Amino acid sequence: MPYVKDYKEFDDKHFYGGDDLGAVIVDGKTQFRTWSPRAYGVYLKIYNDGVGNNLVETLPMERHRTGVWFVEILRNLDGYFYTFTYEFYEQKEETIDIYAKACGVNGERGAIVDFSTTNPDGWDKVKNPQCKTPCDAVIYETHVRDFTIDESSGVTFENRGKFLGFTQSGTTCKGVKTGIDHLVELGVTHVQLLPVEDYATVDESKPHKAQYNWGYDPKNYNCLEGSYSTDAEDPKKRIKEFKKLVMALHKKGIGVIMDVVYNHTYFSDKSAFHKSFPFYYHRTKDWKFTNGSGCGCETASERKMVRKYIADSLKFWVTEYKIDGFRFDLMALHDIETVNYLRDELDKINPQLLMYGEGWTGGESPLASDKLAYKWNSHSFGRVGLFNDNIRDGVKGGTFNAYDRGFVSGNMNAVGTICRALTGCVPHYQLKGHHEECCWAFEPTQSINYCEAHDNNTVWDKLCISVKDESEETRIKMDKLAAGIVILSQGVPFIHCGQDFLRTKPKILPDGEAPNDWNIYDENSYNAPDYTNSIKWERKAQYKDVFDYYKKLIALRKSSPLFRLSTKGEVESCHKFHKQQDNNLILYSLTGFDRCYVVMINPYNCEKTFEIPWDLWNSGRYFVRLDAEGKRNTTPIENREFTAPPLSLTVLKKASV
Ligand code: CA
Repeated sequence: MPYVKDYKEFDDKHFYGGDDLGAVIVDGKTQFRTWSPRAYGVYLKIYNDGVGNNLVETLPMERHRTGVWFVEILRNLDGYFYTFTYEFYEQKEETIDIYAKACGVNGERGAIVDFSTTNPDGWDKVKNPQCKTPCDAVIYETHVRDFTIDESSGVTFENRGKFLGFTQSGTTCKGVKTGIDHLVELGVTHVQLLPVEDYATVDESKPHKAQYNWGYDPKNYNCLEGSYSTDAEDPKKRIKEFKKLVMALHKKGIGVIMDVVYNHTYFSDKSAFHKSFPFYYHRTKDWKFTNGSGCGCETASERKMVRKYIADSLKFWVTEYKIDGFRFDLMALHDIETVNYLRDELDKINPQLLMYGEGWTGGESPLASDKLAYKWNSHSFGRVGLFNDNIRDGVKGGTFNAYDRGFVSGNMNAVGTICRALTGCVPHYQLKGHHEECCWAFEPTQSINYCEAHDNNTVWDKLCISVKDESEETRIKMDKLAAGIVILSQGVPFIHCGQDFLRTKPKILPDGEAPNDWNIYDENSYNAPDYTNSIKWERKAQYKDVFDYYKKLIALRKSSPLFRLSTKGEVESCHKFHKQQDNNLILYSLTGFDRCYVVMINPYNCEKTFEIPWDLWNSGRYFVRLDAEGKRNTTPIENREFTAPPLSLTVLKKASV
């Protein structure tokens, strides 16, 4: 039963632009507001606790214009819990407020919180780290639990797998740094956390039960997930502990990016959205919820109060928690107008806030594809970043076929894609007419370059499947070459936590399933146990040379603006390819800012000789800035013909005169 026939007309009439929805404490009073124009009645219930039979009182709310319901209580209700009950012709349902900013255990009831009481000591003094252009960022994706749940993290037992796990410095494993010190050592600028907003499927009331989820099952968009708190029963605890996480990272100069999942709700007719205004917040077809997300009911960002809801939510996270950016899950489910509006709203607070997302969906949306933030519409929202699946699949092979190989693992057909990716997927005069499908970025700032994320096989596991007959030594070279291409490409590099020490996700096979080449690795570990997902820090000690190489690539990237060109004009003027006899050997130069680098990529598993072009060779002397081991050699090279080792990336630098 639809409640609204024409949403556009309805929105024009009923839109509410106030910033006071939810529970607000003002001058010792507590005010409640909720928007639901078609409700016959709305009731506020106050409780003593987040769950259980402890109702304090029920109060009817009063309908104001544009459909906002209001009630004021003449005391500060900090510490109490509340719900709204919405009455419609067909249904009367009690639910948590969609604007609840805190909640009790398992997100069943909103918690009334005076946020001024939640700041850790020194909170006001800590500033967001600077990030002048997205190309200056080096993003590291991790999951709160994965990061420190394993004993090898060295984090104290109570803090393992929690927000507080990020606050503990000085931890080591077999002599290597772990936890937050590891992040500093690697040199990343931002940590992207898998969803920390409240999600549905981990029972927060059972902290010692073996449970796991990535968190793409959103329940309350403005509340924190309770299972990452040391006490999910206490609404303020998770707030204070998450602020401690943000503060600890900011003190080390590292920004915090939240992974936000506004594209769908985990529950359908039992979601708080549907209970507070049936069908308004979701897209439908033939009166059924549509599933463009592939994992639940998709939301309707094109409706004004949904758009406003997302904007309000982002602003809340930025202002209350000092968040530095957002990664939008399945961003293509949001309409382009909304995505641009959200960028505008973030710009008003701080233009340095990062915003990027997945330019694809998980299923088919009823909204026209030219209205949605798909990657192929990238130029319509050029200020918002997009995950670059071209470089991802070009480097290691197609994501959805475990056996498929990429440029680093023997597939030379990928060379064109890799050349495009190296230039940040912006137009380049030397690549005209070649692989135009990989020329989609409005500016290099739009391209989020990666070859591994939480989804799908890790690069290491994919190499173990697709080139399993190669030696471990060869596969390590392939992994390093993949990292070299991703980290030195124009755009924004993105690394999956543990990728820098060959992360693997061993799978526990169901009873009766025989192991084969590929099923021993988990390619979709969203609810797999710690055995599969947790970071095993011993691996960092074991593959320290790989880690050191990643670290040196990041340091090189940070050392010169030539590796972080932020406009397509700069890419055109600084980045030049120099043809080799063998088209699969890539040699390019980066010239500008009084510096010059030559990068040589040898994708063959044997030595290859590159010819440095005469014009470069005659213009100065070159030394090896970064060899395949990550080392530097300041003695100038003597031969214009440079022999590169198998599967390697070499960076030369022109000696300054
Ligand atoms: Ca939860």
